[in-house]
Formats: sequence, structure tokens, C-alpha cells
Amino acid sequence: MGGRVGIIGAGISGLLACKYVLEKGFEPIVFESQPGVGGVWTHTPETTKLQSSKQAYEFSDFPWPCSVKEEYPDHNQVMEYFESYALHFGLLPHIKFNTKVINIDYSVKQGQDMLSWSHWGGTTDNCFSNPKGKWEITTTSATTVHHHLDQVHEVEFVILCIGRFSGVPNIPEFAPNKGPDALVNGKVIHSMDYAAMDDYEATRFVKGKRVTIVGYQKSALDMANECAITNGAENPCTLLYRNLHWNIPADYSPYTVLAALYLNRFSELMLYKPGEGLFLRHLVTLLSPLRWAISKCVESYIKFKLPLKKYNLIPEHRFSADVTSCSISIAPKSFYDRVEDGSILLKKSKGFSFYASGLAFEDDAIAPLETDIVILCTGYRGDSKLKNIFKSPTFQDYVSNSMVPLYR
Ligand SMILES: Cc1cc2nc3c(=O)[nH]c(=O)nc-3n(C[C@H](O)[C@H](O)[C@H](O)COP(=O)(O)OP(=O)(O)OC[C@H]3O[C@@H](n4cnc5c(N)ncnc54)[C@H](O)[C@@H]3O)c2cc1C
Repeated sequence: MGGRVGIIGAGISGLLACKYVLEKGFEPIVFESQPGVGGVWTHTPETTKLQSSKQAYEFSDFPWPCSVKEEYPDHNQVMEYFESYALHFGLLPHIKFNTKVINIDYSVKQGQDMLSWSHWGGTTDNCFSNPKGKWEITTTSATTVHHHLDQVHEVEFVILCIGRFSGVPNIPEFAPNKGPDALVNGKVIHSMDYAAMDDYEATRFVKGKRVTIVGYQKSALDMANECAITNGAENPCTLLYRNLHWNIPADYSPYTVLAALYLNRFSELMLYKPGEGLFLRHLVTLLSPLRWAISKCVESYIKFKLPLKKYNLIPEHRFSADVTSCSISIAPKSFYDRVEDGSILLKKSKGFSFYASGLAFEDDAIAPLETDIVILCTGYRGDSKLKNIFKSPTFQDYVSNSMVPLYR
């Protein structure tokens, strides 16, 4: 069959794409800006574990090794698993490490209008058999030694596996002179900078400091927990949040309960998805009492297990809303014990700004907070990363107006 397929990224998606492209007889060429495989799992805080159970996060043709007994493997085990997968299927020779893709562009042969070519999206039956143009992938060396070596690679198809939880940080907007630069007596970083530190460096960074973590999702909970382990109640870490989310206790098997209730074919019928017909729309309405009841059950269980009421941490929205937007996190082990012993302080605020020694809050009733370090666990701009990889404004517009980020 033949044909060169450019794959951008060697995280789990890029590895899978590479394996299947090879299997179908194409020639994959994977571009990875980092020196190894693994994507987001190459840089995580020390205590980060998989949130999905290992059965749910498993290659169908490459099981986890018997040595991994844990239901929720840690980040080192996840990395080892990915590396063995790449070795086992002979993917490494196809990956160009330390090679960052600057942009991709579609070059059309003379006389052919790219816009009229319906195959480029890969949605038609013969889309992989009859390419009419070429994609040009411009790369640069990601190591400082060879930074001058820009290259252009021509391929028939491109598979983007660039991930959405890395690269471009989402930094909240602040009024002039009230942003991170205003904190002259402290330091502001994004969670990706903290995750990029090695364990020793990360501990030294927060040791003995007054740390404020902004956010209430997985990274925020993990990082607040790590700061609390390092500093204890003597130097409590403040977790500053605007919106609450449901989280699941770490000390029971959340997957078993969630999988039984939510991760099955039947539960899909309880959610309307764009493009579905009238029958399925009506079915969603008919099943809405059941969806409500399941959500209520899970909420009651979480409230029974975790002291959410005591700390005013019960979200106003349903658990099912967090499930469908993938906003559920597993609370790190002993997280609520650390809230109880005072090594994690919880603070709610609608908005905040920086001043020389800390944070001021929109709500005047809340006293300013002096702080040495602020870690913004405020997410990523995966949409910008995806858009900006295309050179042509035509494709950038397609991405801007697309369904990404799916059903969120
Ligand atoms: C802390 C954390 C915990 C998570 N836990 C879970 C979980 O429990 N369950 C779950 O299902 N998901 C989880 N996720 C989501 C996670 O993103 C996925 O599990 C998965 O690893 C994503 O893989 P990916 O290959 O799509 O993207 P990534 O892992 O982000 O890989 C993208 C790769 O593309 C490379 N790249 C990007 N741009 C370029 C470029 N221009 N040129 C060259 N290379 C480029 C990057 O260097 C990276 O290696 C978690 C994410 C994080 C951050």
C-alpha cells in the first residue's frame, strides 16, 4: 500500500497511531519534541497516579505486566508500560526524538483546489489510497545544540497526537498591574513548571514557603497534597478555588462503582450527542430520572465517605455533570486528613489579583493573603496549541470552528 504518514507526538496516542499505521503497511514518521516517549507522563508530580484503573487504561493487545499489582499504577509504572509497548512493537526506530514540529501545511499540486479535496479529513472510504497533495511538516531540533537545523518533511497524511494537557498554559486574565508580575516578593509559576521539576527540586522549591495553589482539579489537589506533605501544618498550603468539583475518595475502588454505573453502553443512552436523531433525543429525556437517581446515589456515597459538608465543599451541580465533562478527580490519599490537621487550608474566592506580597480578593470581606509561591493549576489552552500548528489560516479556522473540545 505504502505512503508516508507523519505522526506528531509520541505520547500514548502517538504510539498507538504509529503501531497501527505500521500494521496497515504505511511508513510512519513520528516527531517528538521530547527525548523520550510518554507525553504528559514524562513530567508529573512525585505522587501522581493513574486515575483510571489499569483495566481501563490498557492496550488491548499488550496487557500490564504481572509485576504491576496496583489497581492505580503510579507515573513511573505508566512510563515503563509505554516504553515496553514501544519496544515490543518496534516503534522506536520510527520516532524522531528532540524534534519539534513548528507547523504543518498542505501543499496542493498545480490545478488542484485544496478546498475541493474531500479526502484530506480522512473521512471517506478511499481517503488513504488516493492522496492528491502533500503535507509539509516543518521541524526544528528541540535541543539547543542543533537549534539551527530546521527541516521540511513531506508526507501524504498527518495524525496529530499533540495532547491537550501540556504546552500552552491557561493563565487567567488580570487587570493591568495586578497580574503575576505584581508579586515582587514572591514567585508565580504554572503547574506545568512544577511538574517539570524533578522530585528533589520540587521539594526544595516549596520547603518552608507559604504556598498558594490555584484551582480545584487533579493537578491542584495533587500539588496541594505534596506541599502539605513537605511543609506540614507549620507552613500550611492554601488551596484557592472558584468552582468546586466532585472528587472521589482514594481509599476505595472508584472504578468498580463508576464503571458499573457510568462506563457502559447503556449509560451512553442517557446522554444526547450531537448528530443523534429524534428517537435517541427522546430516549435521553425518558431516561433523565434514572440519570438523576444514579447521580444522587453516587453523591450520597461520596458525602458519606468524605467530610465535604464540614468544609463546605459540596458542589452545586450534579455528579453526572462532572462525569460527562471529565472533571472528576480522585482525591489524593489522606488529602482530607491534611485538611483536618491544618496543613491544607481551603479558600473560596470569585476572583483574585496580585500585589507585592501576595493575593488580594474580589470579595472585600476576605483578607489579603501573604504568600511566597503561587502555583496556577489553571489548565491548558489545548485549542490554541492545535490551531497554531497549522500554518494556513484556512485550517486554523477549521480548528477554531470545530467541535473541539467535543461535548464539554
Ligand atoms: C496529571 C495527569 C493525570 C492524568 N490521568 C489520567 C488518567 O488517569 N486516565 C486517563 O485516561 N487520562 C489521564 N490523563 C490524561 C492524559 O492526557 C492521557 O492519559 C494521555 O496520556 C494523553 O496522551 P496523548 O498522547 O494524547 O497526549 P500527551 O501525553 O500530551 O502527548 C503529546 C506528545 O506530543 C508531543 N508534542 C506536542 N506538540 C508537539 C510538537 N509541536 N512537535 C513535536 N512533539 C509535540 C509532546 O511532547 C508529547 O510527548 C492525565 C493527564 C495528566 C496531566
